Amino acid sequence: MATSYNGWTASPDPRAIGVVPMRVGAAVFPAGVRGGDSATILAYVARRFHSEVEALYTPGCWGYAYRQNRNASNLSVHAAGMAIDCNAPSHPNGVRGTFTNTQLGAIRRIVADCGGVVRWGGDFTGTPDEMHFEIIGTPEQVARAADRLRGSGATIDLGDDDMADPGVVAALNNINWLVNQMKPTLDTLVATVNSRPEYVFFKVAGDPGSVYEANVGERTYSGIPSMQVYEDRVAVLTALGIPFKDFTSADPVTGPDGYGTLVPWGETVGRK
Ligand SMILES: [Zn+2]
Repeated sequence: MATSYNGWTASPDPRAIGVVPMRVGAAVFPAGVRGGDSATILAYVARRFHSEVEALYTPGCWGYAYRQNRNASNLSVHAAGMAIDCNAPSHPNGVRGTFTNTQLGAIRRIVADCGGVVRWGGDFTGTPDEMHFEIIGTPEQVARAADRLRGSGATIDLGDDDMADPGVVAALNNINWLVNQMKPTLDTLVATVNSRPEYVFFKVAGDPGSVYEANVGERTYSGIPSMQVYEDRVAVLTALGIPFKDFTSADPVTGPDGYGTLVPWGETVGRK
């Protein structure tokens, strides 16, 4: 079996490495995380991040993903299900200083309380990745750290009681699968949006933690036909049950918002 760069097994089949669903509060970590000790620790990190650093929002958090490390040529720890990204759009890969000093202090405390088995992506020696937390250490070290957290009563159950409901698990798995399929497109979209001044950001009504972008008058994103991106966004927003307004039908070519524009239904929070 392949190995991720933290030395643990990785697999394109999440079932082969025991990936389980994970959510913290209202935030869903698509595709889940590796179960057992790793999940105990990552859920602990996510929960404390949510309460002490910044409220987690969905979509914007990521877990298991079978892919290369974005900043090197080996398999990402996400491929082992042992890394999470918290509020990715707010803390993009490669950008330093996305947290305040107060938030940094909280992150340092959380990582320290994990007893040396969690590394924060902001501490990477190469490209910083401030959204990212990953498990490091041997199985024995990870087991000891997880036992200590459980013994302290500081851990949380994964999800709520309704996670045991097979219907809920099936629905979450379907969403996880869909979001995973979309992830490369969404990553490209986020990177493009972050580099363009003409995008308007919206908060979605009924989902106060979320921020979505809409393009204004642009027809392509980095060579991806905007209609494809538009359809992907519709699919994701629909799957997640997030309401949005679709202005394209007014005039798909020359309408006020342009071809392929998708405007989530909510309050405008700013123009980048
Ligand atoms: Zn990551």
